[in-house]
Amino acid sequence: MNRTRCPWCGKLIDKEADSAEYRKKYFYLHMKISFGRHYGICSHCGKIYNDVPRSALICLIAWFAYFGFLMILPIAMYSAIIVLPLLVIISSKPSHFKRIDDNLSGVVKHEEKLRAKANICKQYYDILPNEILLLSKDHDAHEPFSRVSPISVSKLDEKAGILEGYWLYDNCDNAYFASLDRVHLYDDEGNVVADITFKEKIQNG
Ligand SMILES: [Zn+2]
Repeated sequence: MNRTRCPWCGKLIDKEADSAEYRKKYFYLHMKISFGRHYGICSHCGKIYNDVPRSALICLIAWFAYFGFLMILPIAMYSAIIVLPLLVIISSKPSHFKRIDDNLSGVVKHEEKLRAKANICKQYYDILPNEILLLSKDHDAHEPFSRVSPISVSKLDEKAGILEGYWLYDNCDNAYFASLDRVHLYDDEGNVVADITFKEKIQNG
């Protein structure tokens, strides 16, 4: 699960600094909408990201349903001591960082044309859904969007040896890497996580 890299440019983020920058720019909005969430403005590319808890909506519904239930059956009040903190814990479970548009109106999905599918030739470490893996070991040493795009993993079928995900952005180097027989995927520490071969060649760039 990606909580270390910007979901737009894929560079390593500084959560505290990015969050402070967000609060500075969107002070009033921040007071209204950011309760329990991490919002940040990437110091590399200037784009906004957050980690809206995945289960927030479910917990909100459960919360209201529970209070409705309380009105009918007062004895349920006793179990509130256990249930309510549990709901808070579940609802505050952080999710991976998602892209937020400049108007803060919602999550920006990956572009379909940047979908990537690859065969895993060899896997050295675990790969988690929503992880951002690099194709270039020195990705962080370069300007944002200037090098081959990292891959955001959306699905992993270890049995079939297939990895699906999205290129974070268009770059002319993407097509070159997609055409290679074997490509390394790196994690944040520069370890090779897996060797893959892209199934679809691309014409972007
Ligand atoms: Zn960024």
